[in-house]
Amino acid sequence: SAGRRPLVAGNWKMNGTRSSLAVVESVRQGLTPELAERIDVLICPPSTLIASCVAAAYGSPIAIGGQNLHAKPNGAFTGSISAEMLSDLGARYVIVGHSERRAYHHETDDGVHAKALGARRAGLCGIICVGETKEEREQGRALDIVRAQLAIGVPKGATAADTVIAYEPVWAIGTGLTPTPKDIAEVHASLREMLDKLVGAEAEKIRIVYGGSVKPGNARELMSVENVDGALVGGASLVAEDFLGICAAY
Ligand code: PEP
Repeated sequence: SAGRRPLVAGNWKMNGTRSSLAVVESVRQGLTPELAERIDVLICPPSTLIASCVAAAYGSPIAIGGQNLHAKPNGAFTGSISAEMLSDLGARYVIVGHSERRAYHHETDDGVHAKALGARRAGLCGIICVGETKEEREQGRALDIVRAQLAIGVPKGATAADTVIAYEPVWAIGTGLTPTPKDIAEVHASLREMLDKLVGAEAEKIRIVYGGSVKPGNARELMSVENVDGALVGGASLVAEDFLGICAAY
């Protein structure tokens, strides 16, 4: 919408071994040139598969991204991976502040901000995730929560080239539950307005994608909501046919 090019991004989470390269191959085969002309398609495999996925997607419209990064470029941080390392492998995007990182790895909004800066430093596009819990929604605090996450997480001077926002209600991730189109429209409009406060006119260009139980069967309805510029897809991105079915919503 509003001239923003849709992004359909798959997040494989901690799933996939080398045999999963067949999924990339199938998406590559199934992605028609006319669809690839209209949308950006991204797959974020586990770090162990980034190099081989980049090779499998080489020469195709499919971009490959990371699921997480360390904010620093290098150093004594055993087990961590920097934006520079992801970029070196051919990754072009990286997910920042996914709710599972926030919940299980204690990531804070300040940490998300630092990681988003790291992504930009290395020339990656950071997909900054925000979203309320079930309890926060029930308390009527959803908008306050996601606006605060955005205000702290998004770096100053963010642009459409280095930043995508993903609205992912925690209670909709992996549950089969989704907000109503009306609720999604309300959150995305509110996020767009907050983005305008943060980065001015560039806010109109920055994509805000929706994530949480997006499937081929609901993609068309969810993707047609105003201010929804694509999808972040977990479970359904592991099956090429389902992922392609979601892409076909465009
Ligand atoms: C996600 O993890 O970003 C996600 C949206 O998961 P799912 O599609 O499985 O709900």
